Amino acid sequence: MQADLYIKNGLVVTEEATFHGGVVVADGKIVELVAGNIDVAAKETIDVNGKAVLPGIVDDHVHFNEPGREHWEGYEAGSKAAAAGGVTTFMEMPLNATPPSIDRDKLIHKREAIKNKSVVDYAHWGGLVDNNLDELEGLHEEGVIGFKSFMSESGVDFKRIDDDMLYGGLVKSRELGNVVGVHAESEHVTRFLAEQIQATGRIDRNAWSESRPPAAELEADKRAIYWAKVTGGNLHIVHVTIAEGIHAVDQAKREGVNVTVETCPHYLFFDNDDFVRIGPAAKCAPPLRVREEVEKLWECVLAGMVDTIASDHSPCPTADKVKGNDNIWQAWGGITGVQAMLPAMLTEGVHKRGMSLSLLVKLMCTNPARIFGLYPQKGSLLPGSDADIAIVDLNKTWTLAAEDLFSLHKQSAYAGYTFQGQVERTFVRGTAVYENGQIKVEPGYGNLLRR
Ligand SMILES: [Zn+2]
Repeated sequence: MQADLYIKNGLVVTEEATFHGGVVVADGKIVELVAGNIDVAAKETIDVNGKAVLPGIVDDHVHFNEPGREHWEGYEAGSKAAAAGGVTTFMEMPLNATPPSIDRDKLIHKREAIKNKSVVDYAHWGGLVDNNLDELEGLHEEGVIGFKSFMSESGVDFKRIDDDMLYGGLVKSRELGNVVGVHAESEHVTRFLAEQIQATGRIDRNAWSESRPPAAELEADKRAIYWAKVTGGNLHIVHVTIAEGIHAVDQAKREGVNVTVETCPHYLFFDNDDFVRIGPAAKCAPPLRVREEVEKLWECVLAGMVDTIASDHSPCPTADKVKGNDNIWQAWGGITGVQAMLPAMLTEGVHKRGMSLSLLVKLMCTNPARIFGLYPQKGSLLPGSDADIAIVDLNKTWTLAAEDLFSLHKQSAYAGYTFQGQVERTFVRGTAVYENGQIKVEPGYGNLLRR
C-alpha cells in the first residue's frame, strides 16, 4: 500500500519518547512511525529538516461563545486560532454561549448553529447547573466529554452550584462514566472580599487579585475533592493556579479518589505584576498569581503532578476589556490564549525550565484525550490514531503581533510577547489545516467528536 503522506526527518515526540524519524499517514490515520531518515513510498513527502513533529494539541478548555455570543469569538475564528496554535482538537465549554448547553435540546441547538464552521475537530462539554441533574444523562448520550460547573458565580447566564448539585453531579458522573469539571473558588469568600474591597472605593487591578486569594481557591479544591471521595465520582478541577491545590489533588489520588487537575499556560507565563501592567487583557478568574506562586506551580508541572494544560481561551469584544482600563471591576475576565498556548509552554517550559517535550505532549495532547474519552483516536502518534500533527520550529524566535491573531477581536495578554518555538504547520486527519500563517481548509472541515 502506498501512503498518502510521509513527514520525514523530524524530531518525533510522543508521551514516551523523542527520536529522529518520521510519521507515515494513510486515509487520515497514522500507519507507521519510522526511526531515522529512511525512504518511504508516499504520494507526498515533506522533509521537515529536524523540526519537531508533535501530536496535535488537544485543548480541553475553550469558550467560543456560539450560539448567542458569536460576536465574542465564534467557531470559525476560534477554530482558526486553534489551528494556528497547533491545536487539532478543542473541547468547548457549555458557556458563554447562550443558551448554555445544559440539556439535550440546547446542545443540539448549539450543534446546528456551529456545524460547518470549525476548521479543526471538536467535542462539547455539557453544563451542570443548579437544577439540571436529570438532564445529565441526555447530555451524556449525546457524547459530551464532561459536565462543567461553577462553584462561584460564572458572570453569565450559567448558574453556579452548591454542594447539593456538586454531590449529585458527581454521583451521576460515576453512574454514567463521565466527569464533572469544576471551576473551584469559594463563592462566599470571594463575594465577601469583593464587597469589602469595593466598599473602600478601590478600582485598581490589585483589588481584583485580592478579592480572589489562593485560600479561596484551595478551600473549593478541597471541598470538591471531598465530595468526589465520598461519592466515588469523577472530578476534574479546571485552571488550578496554586501548588497547594495541586498537592491536594496529588494526595487525593494516592487515596484512590478519581480526580484530575488542569492548569493553564497563562498561570505559568504571567504573574500578578504582569496583570497590573497589562490590565484587562490579563484579567481572569482565578487571577494571575504572584511570582512565588507561579514558580511553585511550575515545580508541580515539572514534577508530573498536573494532568492537563488547557488554554481556557475566553475572548470578548475589545470594548468589554477597554471599559475596565481605569476600573478593573468593569472588565470582562478571560484570556485570549488558544493560539499562543503551545509557544508559551515551549518558551517558558521547554526552553527556560528544561521541561521535556514528552511531558509537554503528555499534558497537552495525550492526557486530555484520555481523561475525556477521545484516546487513542486523538492525542497520540501511535499507528491507528488520527493523523493530527503539529510541526514546530523549536528554535524560531518570533513576536506575536495582535493583528496576527485569528481571533475575532485582535487583543490578547500574549500580544507583543516574544516566543521561542513557532507552529509551522498543523494537520488534522492528514490534511494541512494551517501552514505558515495561512488557514488551508474551509470552515466545516472539522468533525464533531463524542465521548
Ligand atoms: Zn473557562
